[in-house]
Amino acid sequence: MALKFVNEVELQGKSVIARFDFNVPFKKTRGPSGERVISDPTRIESSLETIKYLLDQGVKTIILMSHLGRPKGKASKDLSLEPVGKYLANSLDTDVILTESCLDLNIKTLLDLNTSRIILLENLRFHPEEEENDFEFARRLASYGDIYLNDAFGAAHRKHASTHAINHYFKNNSVGGFLLKKEIMALEKVTEKPKGPFMAILGGAKVSDKIQIIEKLLPLVERLLIGGAMAYPFLKAQGHSIGKSLCSDEDIKLAEKILGGPQKQKVTLPQDHIVSEQLDGAPEVSDSLDIEDNKIGLDIGERTISLFKNELKKANTIFWNGPMGLFENKSFSKGTFEIASALSESEGFTLIGGGDSVAAVKEAKLESLISHISTGGGASLEFIEKGSLPGIQALKFGITL
Ligand code: AMP
Repeated sequence: MALKFVNEVELQGKSVIARFDFNVPFKKTRGPSGERVISDPTRIESSLETIKYLLDQGVKTIILMSHLGRPKGKASKDLSLEPVGKYLANSLDTDVILTESCLDLNIKTLLDLNTSRIILLENLRFHPEEEENDFEFARRLASYGDIYLNDAFGAAHRKHASTHAINHYFKNNSVGGFLLKKEIMALEKVTEKPKGPFMAILGGAKVSDKIQIIEKLLPLVERLLIGGAMAYPFLKAQGHSIGKSLCSDEDIKLAEKILGGPQKQKVTLPQDHIVSEQLDGAPEVSDSLDIEDNKIGLDIGERTISLFKNELKKANTIFWNGPMGLFENKSFSKGTFEIASALSESEGFTLIGGGDSVAAVKEAKLESLISHISTGGGASLEFIEKGSLPGIQALKFGITL
Protein backbone atom coordinates (compact mmCIF):
# COMPACT_ATOMS: atom_id res chain seq x y z
CA MET A 1 0.00 0.00 0.00
CA ALA A 2 1.39 3.37 -0.94
CA LEU A 3 1.46 6.32 1.39
CA LYS A 4 -1.02 8.98 0.25
CA PHE A 5 -0.01 12.63 0.46
CA VAL A 6 -2.13 15.74 0.91
CA ASN A 7 -1.99 16.69 -2.78
CA GLU A 8 -3.62 13.39 -3.76
CA VAL A 9 -7.05 13.87 -2.11
CA GLU A 10 -10.09 16.11 -2.55
CA LEU A 11 -10.08 18.73 0.20
CA GLN A 12 -12.78 21.23 -0.79
CA GLY A 13 -15.24 21.77 2.08
CA LYS A 14 -13.59 19.15 4.32
CA SER A 15 -12.53 19.45 7.95
CA VAL A 16 -8.96 18.28 8.37
CA ILE A 17 -7.57 17.17 11.71
CA ALA A 18 -3.85 17.72 11.30
CA ARG A 19 -0.96 16.61 13.53
CA PHE A 20 2.12 18.84 13.36
CA ASP A 21 5.26 19.00 15.45
CA PHE A 22 5.11 22.44 17.06
CA ASN A 23 7.48 21.37 19.84
CA VAL A 24 9.63 24.50 19.56
CA PRO A 25 12.34 25.69 21.97
CA PHE A 26 11.89 28.88 24.04
CA LYS A 27 14.33 31.59 25.12
CA LYS A 28 15.45 31.51 28.77
CA THR A 29 14.28 35.10 29.30
CA ARG A 30 10.62 36.04 28.87
CA GLY A 31 9.08 38.85 26.84
CA PRO A 32 7.89 42.26 28.27
CA SER A 33 4.51 40.86 29.41
CA GLY A 34 6.03 37.75 30.94
CA GLU A 35 5.23 35.67 27.87
CA ARG A 36 7.45 32.87 26.62
CA VAL A 37 9.42 33.73 23.49
CA ILE A 38 10.08 31.13 20.80
CA SER A 39 13.84 30.89 20.16
CA ASP A 40 13.75 28.77 17.01
CA PRO A 41 10.48 28.66 15.03
CA THR A 42 11.81 26.24 12.36
CA ARG A 43 9.24 23.57 13.19
CA ILE A 44 6.33 26.01 12.82
CA GLU A 45 7.82 27.46 9.63
CA SER A 46 8.14 23.94 8.21
CA SER A 47 4.40 23.37 8.69
CA LEU A 48 3.29 26.47 6.77
CA GLU A 49 3.51 24.95 3.29
CA THR A 50 0.97 22.27 4.19
CA ILE A 51 -1.34 24.62 6.10
CA LYS A 52 -1.34 27.18 3.25
CA TYR A 53 -2.04 24.41 0.76
CA LEU A 54 -5.05 23.24 2.80
CA LEU A 55 -6.41 26.80 2.91
CA ASP A 56 -5.85 27.27 -0.83
CA GLN A 57 -7.69 24.05 -1.56
CA GLY A 58 -10.79 25.38 0.19
CA VAL A 59 -10.96 23.23 3.31
CA LYS A 60 -13.76 24.14 5.71
CA THR A 61 -11.65 23.98 8.87
CA ILE A 62 -8.17 22.89 9.88
CA ILE A 63 -7.94 21.53 13.39
CA LEU A 64 -4.26 21.72 14.31
CA MET A 65 -2.79 19.52 17.03
CA SER A 66 0.66 19.10 18.56
CA HIS A 67 2.51 18.38 21.76
CA LEU A 68 4.88 20.82 23.45
CA GLY A 69 7.52 19.75 25.96
CA ARG A 70 6.93 17.14 28.62
CA PRO A 71 3.97 18.19 30.81
CA LYS A 72 3.59 14.54 31.93
CA GLY A 73 -0.17 14.32 31.48
CA LYS A 74 -1.05 17.53 33.38
CA ALA A 75 -2.05 20.97 32.14
CA SER A 76 0.70 23.54 32.64
CA LYS A 77 0.50 27.21 31.69
CA ASP A 78 4.18 27.24 30.75
CA LEU A 79 3.65 24.57 28.14
CA SER A 80 0.57 26.07 26.53
CA LEU A 81 0.58 26.26 22.73
CA GLU A 82 -0.49 29.91 22.97
CA PRO A 83 2.83 31.33 21.61
CA VAL A 84 2.58 28.87 18.71
CA GLY A 85 -0.98 30.02 17.96
CA LYS A 86 0.19 33.64 17.90
CA TYR A 87 3.11 32.82 15.62
CA LEU A 88 0.80 30.96 13.23
CA ALA A 89 -1.77 33.74 13.23
CA ASN A 90 0.96 36.25 12.32
CA SER A 91 2.52 34.09 9.64
CA LEU A 92 -0.81 33.18 8.03
CA ASP A 93 -2.38 36.57 8.62
CA THR A 94 -5.57 34.96 9.89
CA ASP A 95 -7.29 34.12 13.19
CA VAL A 96 -6.17 31.02 15.02
CA ILE A 97 -8.44 29.96 17.86
CA LEU A 98 -6.71 28.09 20.70
CA THR A 99 -9.02 25.71 22.58
CA GLU A 100 -8.87 25.34 26.38
CA SER A 101 -8.10 21.67 26.05
CA CYS A 102 -7.94 19.24 23.15
CA LEU A 103 -11.04 17.52 24.62
CA ASP A 104 -12.93 20.78 25.16
CA LEU A 105 -16.68 20.13 24.79
CA ASN A 106 -17.05 23.43 22.94
CA ILE A 107 -14.91 22.30 20.03
CA LYS A 108 -17.86 20.69 18.25
CA THR A 109 -19.89 23.93 18.62
CA LEU A 110 -16.90 25.92 17.38
CA LEU A 111 -16.71 23.68 14.32
CA ASP A 112 -20.44 24.08 13.64
CA LEU A 113 -20.30 27.86 14.03
CA ASN A 114 -17.49 27.96 11.50
CA THR A 115 -16.20 31.33 12.72
CA SER A 116 -12.54 30.58 12.12
CA ARG A 117 -10.93 28.30 9.57
CA ILE A 118 -8.06 27.44 11.90
CA ILE A 119 -8.47 25.92 15.33
CA LEU A 120 -5.45 24.95 17.41
CA LEU A 121 -6.05 22.28 20.03
CA GLU A 122 -4.22 22.90 23.31
CA ASN A 123 -1.13 20.72 24.06
CA LEU A 124 -2.05 17.05 23.55
CA ARG A 125 0.30 15.92 26.29
CA PHE A 126 -1.78 17.68 28.96
CA HIS A 127 -3.64 14.35 28.83
CA PRO A 128 -1.78 11.13 29.76
CA GLU A 129 -3.85 9.26 27.14
CA GLU A 130 -1.81 10.88 24.36
CA GLU A 131 1.44 9.14 25.27
CA GLU A 132 -0.49 5.98 26.26
CA ASN A 133 -1.68 5.68 22.63
CA ASP A 134 -5.23 5.48 23.99
CA PHE A 135 -7.88 4.58 21.41
CA GLU A 136 -10.79 6.36 23.12
CA PHE A 137 -8.74 9.58 23.30
CA ALA A 138 -7.77 9.10 19.65
CA ARG A 139 -11.44 8.54 18.75
CA ARG A 140 -12.37 11.87 20.29
CA LEU A 141 -9.64 13.69 18.37
CA ALA A 142 -10.71 11.86 15.21
CA SER A 143 -14.31 13.01 15.66
CA TYR A 144 -13.27 16.60 14.77
CA GLY A 145 -12.25 15.88 11.18
CA ASP A 146 -13.24 14.15 7.93
CA ILE A 147 -9.60 13.70 6.95
CA TYR A 148 -6.56 12.98 9.11
CA LEU A 149 -3.28 14.58 8.09
CA ASN A 150 0.09 13.83 9.66
CA ASP A 151 2.99 16.21 9.04
CA ALA A 152 4.69 15.69 12.40
CA PHE A 153 7.89 14.05 11.27
CA GLY A 154 9.62 14.93 14.57
CA ALA A 155 7.00 12.86 16.45
CA ALA A 156 6.61 10.02 13.94
CA HIS A 157 8.92 7.71 15.90
CA ARG A 158 6.45 7.77 18.81
CA LYS A 159 3.43 5.50 19.07
CA HIS A 160 1.11 8.12 20.52
CA ALA A 161 -2.65 8.58 20.17
CA SER A 162 -2.39 11.51 17.73
CA THR A 163 0.27 9.86 15.55
CA HIS A 164 -0.67 6.18 15.83
CA ALA A 165 -4.04 5.08 17.32
CA ILE A 166 -5.91 7.84 15.47
CA ASN A 167 -5.24 6.12 12.14
CA HIS A 168 -7.76 3.46 13.16
CA TYR A 169 -10.57 5.97 12.61
CA PHE A 170 -9.55 7.09 9.14
CA LYS A 171 -9.47 4.00 6.95
CA ASN A 172 -9.05 5.67 3.56
CA ASN A 173 -8.95 9.25 4.68
CA SER A 174 -5.47 9.70 6.06
CA VAL A 175 -2.65 11.55 4.34
CA GLY A 176 0.90 12.73 4.91
CA GLY A 177 1.81 16.41 4.67
CA PHE A 178 4.54 18.03 2.57
CA LEU A 179 7.12 18.05 5.36
CA LEU A 180 6.65 14.33 5.99
CA LYS A 181 7.08 13.75 2.26
CA LYS A 182 10.30 15.82 2.11
CA GLU A 183 11.78 14.10 5.14
CA ILE A 184 11.00 10.60 3.84
CA MET A 185 12.42 11.39 0.39
CA ALA A 186 15.63 12.82 1.88
CA LEU A 187 16.14 9.94 4.28
CA GLU A 188 15.52 7.36 1.58
CA LYS A 189 18.39 8.91 -0.40
CA VAL A 190 20.56 7.68 2.44
CA THR A 191 18.87 4.37 3.30
CA GLU A 192 18.08 3.16 -0.23
CA LYS A 193 21.00 2.93 -2.63
CA PRO A 194 22.83 6.11 -1.62
CA LYS A 195 25.04 7.58 -4.33
CA GLY A 196 28.57 6.52 -3.37
CA PRO A 197 30.97 7.23 -1.94
CA PHE A 198 28.60 7.50 1.02
CA MET A 199 30.14 8.70 4.29
CA ALA A 200 28.61 9.22 7.70
CA ILE A 201 30.01 11.40 10.42
CA LEU A 202 28.80 10.82 13.95
CA GLY A 203 29.58 12.72 17.11
CA GLY A 204 27.90 13.69 20.34
CA ALA A 205 28.08 12.15 23.71
CA LYS A 206 26.77 8.59 23.93
CA VAL A 207 27.67 5.51 21.96
CA SER A 208 24.88 3.50 23.60
CA ASP A 209 22.22 5.83 22.14
CA LYS A 210 23.65 5.52 18.66
CA ILE A 211 24.91 1.94 18.57
CA GLN A 212 22.06 0.65 16.40
CA ILE A 213 22.57 3.39 13.89
CA ILE A 214 26.31 2.66 13.72
CA GLU A 215 25.54 -1.00 13.03
CA LYS A 216 22.97 -0.08 10.38
CA LEU A 217 25.20 2.53 8.71
CA LEU A 218 28.44 0.53 8.58
CA PRO A 219 27.43 -1.84 5.77
CA LEU A 220 26.04 1.13 3.76
CA VAL A 221 28.96 3.55 4.04
CA GLU A 222 32.43 3.71 2.54
CA ARG A 223 33.64 5.45 5.67
CA LEU A 224 32.31 6.24 9.13
CA LEU A 225 34.02 9.19 10.80
CA ILE A 226 33.59 9.34 14.56
CA GLY A 227 34.29 12.48 16.59
CA GLY A 228 33.07 14.15 19.77
CA ALA A 229 32.85 12.24 23.01
CA MET A 230 31.65 9.25 20.96
CA ALA A 231 35.24 8.70 19.85
CA TYR A 232 36.74 8.04 23.29
CA PRO A 233 35.21 4.60 23.97
CA PHE A 234 36.58 3.56 20.55
CA LEU A 235 40.07 4.93 21.28
CA LYS A 236 39.98 3.29 24.71
CA ALA A 237 38.89 0.00 23.15
CA GLN A 238 41.97 0.25 20.89
CA GLY A 239 44.14 0.52 23.98
CA HIS A 240 44.80 4.28 23.96
CA SER A 241 44.73 6.43 27.07
CA ILE A 242 41.87 8.93 27.07
CA GLY A 243 42.54 10.75 30.35
CA LYS A 244 39.34 11.99 32.00
CA SER A 245 37.36 12.16 28.74
CA LEU A 246 33.68 11.19 28.79
CA CYS A 247 33.43 7.39 28.51
CA SER A 248 31.46 4.61 30.19
CA ASP A 249 32.38 0.92 30.55
CA GLU A 250 29.19 0.03 28.70
CA ASP A 251 30.22 2.26 25.78
CA ILE A 252 33.69 0.66 25.64
CA LYS A 253 32.06 -2.79 25.34
CA LEU A 254 29.88 -1.54 22.47
CA ALA A 255 32.91 0.04 20.77
CA GLU A 256 34.89 -3.22 21.15
CA LYS A 257 32.03 -5.07 19.45
CA ILE A 258 32.12 -2.72 16.45
CA LEU A 259 35.93 -2.68 16.22
CA GLY A 260 35.94 -6.49 16.37
CA GLY A 261 33.37 -6.74 13.58
CA PRO A 262 33.77 -7.26 9.83
CA GLN A 263 33.37 -3.54 8.98
CA LYS A 264 36.00 -2.25 11.40
CA GLN A 265 38.30 -0.90 8.66
CA LYS A 266 35.60 1.63 7.71
CA VAL A 267 35.80 3.38 11.08
CA THR A 268 38.00 6.49 11.18
CA LEU A 269 38.82 7.95 14.58
CA PRO A 270 40.43 11.23 15.69
CA GLN A 271 44.24 11.41 15.62
CA ASP A 272 44.68 14.45 17.81
CA HIS A 273 42.58 16.42 20.27
CA ILE A 274 41.88 19.70 21.97
CA VAL A 275 41.94 19.00 25.69
CA SER A 276 41.62 20.81 28.99
CA GLU A 277 41.84 20.06 32.68
CA GLN A 278 38.25 21.22 33.13
CA LEU A 279 35.14 21.61 31.00
CA ASP A 280 35.47 25.39 31.25
CA GLY A 281 39.28 25.41 31.33
CA ALA A 282 41.76 26.77 28.78
CA PRO A 283 42.07 24.73 25.58
CA GLU A 284 45.35 22.90 24.90
CA VAL A 285 46.52 20.94 21.87
CA SER A 286 47.11 17.24 22.46
CA ASP A 287 49.02 16.28 19.35
CA SER A 288 48.88 12.51 19.70
CA LEU A 289 46.29 9.78 19.90
CA ASP A 290 46.77 9.43 23.64
CA ILE A 291 45.47 11.94 26.17
CA GLU A 292 47.28 12.72 29.46
CA ASP A 293 45.72 11.31 32.63
CA ASN A 294 44.54 14.65 34.05
CA LYS A 295 43.08 16.01 30.77
CA ILE A 296 39.63 15.81 29.15
CA GLY A 297 39.27 15.50 25.37
CA LEU A 298 36.83 18.25 24.34
CA ASP A 299 37.25 18.72 20.58
CA ILE A 300 38.98 17.11 17.62
CA GLY A 301 42.41 18.56 16.77
CA GLU A 302 43.71 20.22 13.55
CA ARG A 303 45.09 17.02 12.01
CA THR A 304 41.79 15.26 12.58
CA ILE A 305 39.88 18.19 11.07
CA SER A 306 42.04 17.93 7.91
CA LEU A 307 41.69 14.15 7.81
CA PHE A 308 37.89 14.29 8.16
CA LYS A 309 37.55 17.15 5.65
CA ASN A 310 39.69 15.34 3.07
CA GLU A 311 37.55 12.23 3.41
CA LEU A 312 34.32 14.22 3.12
CA LYS A 313 35.58 15.87 -0.09
CA LYS A 314 35.46 12.44 -1.77
CA ALA A 315 31.85 11.79 -0.74
CA ASN A 316 28.76 12.01 -2.93
CA THR A 317 26.41 11.44 0.00
CA ILE A 318 27.06 12.59 3.58
CA PHE A 319 24.99 11.97 6.70
CA TRP A 320 25.96 13.91 9.85
CA ASN A 321 24.67 13.63 13.39
CA GLY A 322 26.30 14.94 16.56
CA PRO A 323 28.90 17.64 17.35
CA MET A 324 32.67 16.98 17.25
CA GLY A 325 33.19 18.37 20.72
CA LEU A 326 31.76 20.42 23.57
CA PHE A 327 30.78 22.96 20.92
CA GLU A 328 28.58 25.07 23.23
CA ASN A 329 31.90 26.38 24.62
CA LYS A 330 33.69 28.51 21.97
CA SER A 331 37.08 27.10 22.96
CA PHE A 332 35.94 23.64 21.87
CA SER A 333 33.70 24.42 18.92
CA LYS A 334 36.16 24.59 16.01
CA GLY A 335 35.90 20.91 15.00
CA THR A 336 32.09 21.07 14.81
CA PHE A 337 32.05 24.30 12.77
CA GLU A 338 34.73 22.96 10.40
CA ILE A 339 32.57 19.89 9.74
CA ALA A 340 29.54 22.15 9.18
CA SER A 341 31.57 24.09 6.63
CA ALA A 342 32.83 20.86 4.97
CA LEU A 343 29.21 19.79 4.45
CA SER A 344 28.27 23.20 3.10
CA GLU A 345 31.11 22.99 0.53
CA SER A 346 30.24 19.45 -0.58
CA GLU A 347 28.72 19.04 -4.02
CA GLY A 348 27.13 15.78 -2.94
CA PHE A 349 23.83 15.16 -1.14
CA THR A 350 24.19 16.32 2.46
CA LEU A 351 21.78 15.33 5.21
CA ILE A 352 21.91 16.50 8.80
CA GLY A 353 19.96 14.38 11.21
CA GLY A 354 18.66 16.86 13.72
CA GLY A 355 19.90 17.86 17.18
CA ASP A 356 23.05 19.83 17.97
CA SER A 357 24.57 19.55 14.49
CA VAL A 358 21.60 21.56 13.21
CA ALA A 359 22.23 24.22 15.86
CA ALA A 360 25.88 24.47 14.70
CA VAL A 361 24.93 24.79 11.02
CA LYS A 362 22.38 27.47 11.87
CA GLU A 363 24.82 29.40 14.04
CA ALA A 364 27.28 29.34 11.13
CA LYS A 365 24.44 30.49 8.82
CA LEU A 366 25.12 27.62 6.43
CA GLU A 367 21.60 26.08 6.37
CA SER A 368 20.91 27.06 2.79
CA LEU A 369 23.98 25.12 1.62
CA ILE A 370 22.85 21.81 3.12
CA SER A 371 20.67 19.53 0.97
CA HIS A 372 18.33 18.54 3.80
CA ILE A 373 18.19 19.38 7.48
CA SER A 374 15.83 17.06 9.28
CA THR A 375 13.34 18.57 11.74
CA GLY A 376 13.49 15.41 13.85
CA GLY A 377 16.72 14.27 15.55
CA GLY A 378 15.41 11.07 17.17
CA ALA A 379 13.02 10.43 14.29
CA SER A 380 15.69 10.68 11.58
CA LEU A 381 18.08 8.38 13.47
CA GLU A 382 15.32 5.83 14.00
CA PHE A 383 14.26 6.06 10.36
CA ILE A 384 17.81 5.20 9.24
CA GLU A 385 17.99 2.39 11.77
CA LYS A 386 14.65 0.78 10.92
CA GLY A 387 13.80 2.00 7.41
CA SER A 388 10.50 3.59 8.55
CA LEU A 389 8.72 4.89 11.66
CA PRO A 390 5.58 3.79 13.56
CA GLY A 391 3.71 7.00 12.66
CA ILE A 392 4.49 6.52 8.95
CA GLN A 393 3.62 2.82 8.99
CA ALA A 394 0.28 3.56 10.69
CA LEU A 395 -0.50 6.19 8.05
CA LYS A 396 0.35 3.71 5.32
CA PHE A 397 -1.31 0.55 6.60
CA GLY A 398 -3.82 1.77 9.23
CA ILE A 399 -4.22 0.38 12.73
CA THR A 400 -6.50 -2.35 14.02
CA LEU A 401 -7.84 -2.40 17.55
P1 AMP B 1 24.29 13.89 21.53
O1 AMP B 1 22.96 14.26 22.09
O2 AMP B 1 24.67 12.46 21.80
O3 AMP B 1 24.42 14.25 20.07
O4 AMP B 1 25.36 14.77 22.32
C1 AMP B 1 25.47 16.15 22.17
C2 AMP B 1 26.29 16.71 23.29
O5 AMP B 1 27.54 16.08 23.31
C3 AMP B 1 26.56 18.20 23.17
O6 AMP B 1 25.98 18.86 24.26
C4 AMP B 1 28.08 18.30 23.20
O7 AMP B 1 28.56 19.37 23.98
C5 AMP B 1 28.47 17.00 23.85
N1 AMP B 1 29.84 16.60 23.53
C6 AMP B 1 30.35 16.35 22.33
N2 AMP B 1 31.66 16.06 22.41
C7 AMP B 1 31.99 16.15 23.72
C8 AMP B 1 33.19 15.95 24.45
N3 AMP B 1 34.33 15.63 23.85
N4 AMP B 1 33.13 16.07 25.79
C9 AMP B 1 31.98 16.40 26.41
N5 AMP B 1 30.82 16.61 25.78
C10 AMP B 1 30.82 16.48 24.44
